[in-house]
Amino acid sequence: MNEIKRPGTGQQALLGETDLTALRGNIRGALLTASDPGYDEARKIWNAMVDRRPAAILRALGAADVIQAVRFAKAHQLPLAVRGGGHNIAGNAVCDGGLMLDLSAMKSVRVNPSTRRAVVEPGATLADVDRETQAFGLVVPTGINSTTGIAGLTLGGGFGWTTRKFGMTIDNLLSVDLVTADGTLVHASETENSDLFWAVRGGGGNFGVVTAFEFALHPLGPQVISGLLVHPFDQAATLLKSYRRLVAAAPDELTCWCVMRKAPPLPFIPQEWHGREVLVFALCYAGPMAEGEKAAAPFRALGKPIADVVGPHPFVGWQAAFDPLLTPGARNYWKSHDFVELSDGAIDAVLAGLANLPGPECEIFIAHVGGAMAKVKPDATAYPQRQSHFIMNVHTRWREASQDAACIGWARKLSSATAPHAAGSVYVNFMPEDETDRVSQAYGRNYPRLAAIKRRFDPENLFRLNQNIRPG
Ligand SMILES: Cc1cc2nc3c(=O)[nH]c(=O)nc-3n(C[C@H](O)[C@H](O)[C@H](O)COP(=O)(O)OP(=O)(O)OC[C@H]3O[C@@H](n4cnc5c(N)ncnc54)[C@H](O)[C@@H]3O)c2cc1C
Repeated sequence: MNEIKRPGTGQQALLGETDLTALRGNIRGALLTASDPGYDEARKIWNAMVDRRPAAILRALGAADVIQAVRFAKAHQLPLAVRGGGHNIAGNAVCDGGLMLDLSAMKSVRVNPSTRRAVVEPGATLADVDRETQAFGLVVPTGINSTTGIAGLTLGGGFGWTTRKFGMTIDNLLSVDLVTADGTLVHASETENSDLFWAVRGGGGNFGVVTAFEFALHPLGPQVISGLLVHPFDQAATLLKSYRRLVAAAPDELTCWCVMRKAPPLPFIPQEWHGREVLVFALCYAGPMAEGEKAAAPFRALGKPIADVVGPHPFVGWQAAFDPLLTPGARNYWKSHDFVELSDGAIDAVLAGLANLPGPECEIFIAHVGGAMAKVKPDATAYPQRQSHFIMNVHTRWREASQDAACIGWARKLSSATAPHAAGSVYVNFMPEDETDRVSQAYGRNYPRLAAIKRRFDPENLFRLNQNIRPG
C-alpha cells in the first residue's frame, strides 16, 4: 500500500492506492509518486535550497485536471502546492507530504494579432510568451529572466523592461479562468467576478488556481535599444548619484536598472576585470530605435565604462540577457525593499554591503520603476506599491550548503542597514519563506479587502502554500 501521510495532523494512512488509482483514472495528465520515474525531476524547483517530497505530483494537462486536483486535495485535507514556472524564491511550488499540482505542461500561448490579445496557460515561461507575441511584433510587460513562469509573476504583480511604458503585467491582464477552492472553474474580469479579478492582480495564489490568463498586447520590436554599461566599482558612489538624477528625468520608454556584483567571466568584459567588483547599468528603450539612441546617450556618457554594449538587440534576446547568471540549481536567498527615492543614506548602505560580498554570484539589483506603473491608483488592483520608484533586491546566490549561514547572514545585515531608508513595503514575489510576517507590509491598505475576498472564496484556506492572506 502506497500511503500518503498528512503532515502536521498526526494522522497517517489517510490515503491508499485505491484513492490514488481513482485520481489517476480521473485525469488526462500523470500522477507521480516517489517510486515513479520522473518524480525527483518533477519536484525540483529553481531554488536548490528547497528540497521537498510531495506525497504525489499531479502533472495537469488542462482545467479538468486542475479541478480534479483541487477537489482531491480538499476532500483528503491535503496541503496543496501549485507550481507554475517553479521560480519563486520561497519555494511554495513544492510541499512535503501533500499534493503538488504541477502546471508546467500547460504551456500554450495563443495570440490574436488583430485584437492585440493573448491567452496564456499557466505553465508558460516568459520566453514562451515573448516568442509567440514577438512573432507579431507585440509584447506584454513581464520580468527580466525569461525562464520565470508567467503565472507566479503575474499573480504577484510583474515588472520588467517595458513596465514604465506599458504598466505592470497585472495592468495588462484582461481576465482569468480560475478554479476556486470548491473546485469550480470561474471567469473573472472587470465585469465578471470583479472582486476576484481585483484580488488576483497582486494577491498571489491565494484565491484559486488560474488555468488561463488573457493579456492586452502592445506593439514593440523586433529590435530594441538595450544593453549593459559596466563600470569599475570605485566610481559607484558618484555614478549612483548621477544615475538617480538621470532616471528622474528619463522618458517612460527608458528603463535603467543597476546591478552591483563581482564581474562574471562574460566575453565582452575584459579578462582583467573578471571577479572584481563592478557596477552595471542595464537599460532598455521601449520605443523607436532613433529615440532610444538619444535617450540612452546621457547614461552612456557617464564615467569611463569598462564595457559598453548598448545598441540594437532583438527584444526576445534582451529578455533572456540575464538568463546565464540566473540558471536553476544554485542555492538562493533574497531580501528586498521598496524605495520612494534613492537617498544618500540608501546609497551609502548599499555600497557598504557591496564591500563584503560573500561570493562571486551574490549581487544587489536596483530596479527603477514608476512611469505607467505609478499612474495606476494603489487600490485599483491588489498590488498597492505604486509610488515606490526603486525596488532593491539582494540576490544572494551560492553553491555549497556550508556557505548558507555566511550568505544568508550577509543578506539580512544588508537588509537591516537599508531598511531605515526604504518605504517599509515589499514586493510579494521577492519574499523568501521566512518572511511570512511581511505579508501585510506587502499589501498595505489593500490587506483587509484581500482578507475579506479570501474569506468568501477560500474560507478554509486551502490555498495557503503561498505568501498567505488569512481569511478575514
Ligand atoms: C531569477 C529570477 C528573476 C526574477 N525577475 C523578476 C522580474 O524581473 N520581475 C518580477 O516581477 N518578478 C521577478 N521574479 C520573481 C517572480 O515573479 C516570482 O518568483 C514568481 O513567483 C515566479 O513565478 P513562477 O510561476 O515561476 O513560480 P512558482 O514557484 O511556480 O509559483 C509561485 C507561486 O505562485 C502561485 N502560483 C503559481 N502558478 C499559479 C496558478 N496558475 N494559479 C494560482 N497560483 C499559482 C503559487 O502560490 C506558487 O507557490 C524573478 C524570479 C527569479 C527566480
